[in-house]
Amino acid sequence: MFKILQKSFSVGSATADYPRIAPHLADQFRGCPEFDFAAWKDARPAADACPTGAIAVSDRDGLRQVTVDYGRCIFCGECEQASADGAVRMTRHFELAATDRRDLILTAEYALHPDGSHAALRSSTRGPSAGESAKRIASAIHRLLGRSLSIRQVDAGSCNGCEQEIVALNNPVHDIERFGIHFVASPRHADMLLVTGPVTRNMELALRKTWAATPTPKVVVAVGACGISGGIFATNYASLGGVDSVIPVDVYIPGCPPRPEALLHGILLALSQVRQRMGVHPRG
Ligand code: SF4
Repeated sequence: MFKILQKSFSVGSATADYPRIAPHLADQFRGCPEFDFAAWKDARPAADACPTGAIAVSDRDGLRQVTVDYGRCIFCGECEQASADGAVRMTRHFELAATDRRDLILTAEYALHPDGSHAALRSSTRGPSAGESAKRIASAIHRLLGRSLSIRQVDAGSCNGCEQEIVALNNPVHDIERFGIHFVASPRHADMLLVTGPVTRNMELALRKTWAATPTPKVVVAVGACGISGGIFATNYASLGGVDSVIPVDVYIPGCPPRPEALLHGILLALSQVRQRMGVHPRG
């Protein structure tokens, strides 16, 4: 016993202090792609290479519109490889959670040249923001968390990649319970549903019933590219696509799968939704 205590004290705490302190990322870690729309001479090779259709190019009336949907993106890096002009760059950003699906979509418009190339006219200023919102949420959680928050995780048809990261939230490094957040077995005890996977047709009814069984105010978080849009599976004979095709979604967490800190970032963002529904003043 004494030896165990001695070892515990010598090792110290293993828990990372995210979101107060940025996490250590492995050298090979890959976050979301970043797009320099003004410098992007031709988006078509990247759109052709993108395995999920996250990049779309459409031409009409001498204009070319390019859209990038982070809700479909699996952070594979194919677009960076396909863009010879260096306008696409993989970054290490992962804090992409958004409460509005439209915030995950970037658009740019170009004047179309006869040879198929284009010149930039304008691009959207929407899009997910990174570090700042993590800091804002970190301070909000300290001010606002009045009681524990219960989460019911629902696998609506995922490959279990997202589940691996969700399980990691409970390990000593991420320790989600330090926020007073814990996972529960029944939706009847839950404030929040954390839903993974494209919704398979087999799981549609179960998801609807789980949502109906969750007491209000309930918040739904769609996890990963599959949970947001169907991801690599999209919509097909067995898949209905994203979670919001079946039940209303309050927060979207991009990634494939989102790393534990990205999940935490999204869950903390969802917390503010819970508080709004409970009528708690933001500074209460
Ligand atoms: S990183 Fe995202 S946008 Fe780029 S090719 Fe992969 S899925 Fe498509």
